[in-house]
Amino acid sequence: MLKKLIQEIFPKVCGICGKISKSWICPKCYYKIKNELKFFAVKQKSFKIYFLGFYEKNIRKLLLRYKFGDSAYLSNLFIELIIKNSKLIQNIKQYDYIIPVPMFIKNKKVRGYNQTELIAKRIKERIDIEYCTDVLIKIKENKRQSTLNEKERIENVKNVYKIQNTEKIKNRDILLIDDIYTTGNTVKQCVKELKKAKVHRIDVFVIAKTR
Ligand SMILES: [Zn+2]
Repeated sequence: MLKKLIQEIFPKVCGICGKISKSWICPKCYYKIKNELKFFAVKQKSFKIYFLGFYEKNIRKLLLRYKFGDSAYLSNLFIELIIKNSKLIQNIKQYDYIIPVPMFIKNKKVRGYNQTELIAKRIKERIDIEYCTDVLIKIKENKRQSTLNEKERIENVKNVYKIQNTEKIKNRDILLIDDIYTTGNTVKQCVKELKKAKVHRIDVFVIAKTR
């Protein structure tokens, strides 16, 4: 009853075009984004990176709305897109732990949610995998990477991430989760930090990557 009432007062809107829709994406937009979503696995220097599509067109629209549009509910849409990708799921299942890139506590309070943590949580709910947010933490506030140039970006993420409870992940296979991979500085710093815990293997999953 209450759920029905809430649904009537706040009807669902499509995460891409913003029009009222029966689900978090309207059929028209789903048809468009479907062609942009695939399974990608790219080898970087010391880790593999899995992603669903390139950070452009509808995927970009959706991620921007999710991150900056006060739209935590869109994690429900992302998990559906992830679950539909059987190759990705097979790969995720090879790991012992998924760890989201953390946010600084103050920034998380301002936004109300950590978009990456929510995605990791939804993955944990749907497939049998451990998830932890108490190993990798962010200890300092820094500027938004997208506002900086390449050189500043490298400096900006130095010494802002830290690990604790390292025993938990020692000799384990870890999948680090983030939303967008651009220059990769954030992810590289987190990987570097997690390696200090003597993990067995570490790779990365992001929703989208720039070309
Ligand atoms: Zn739409």
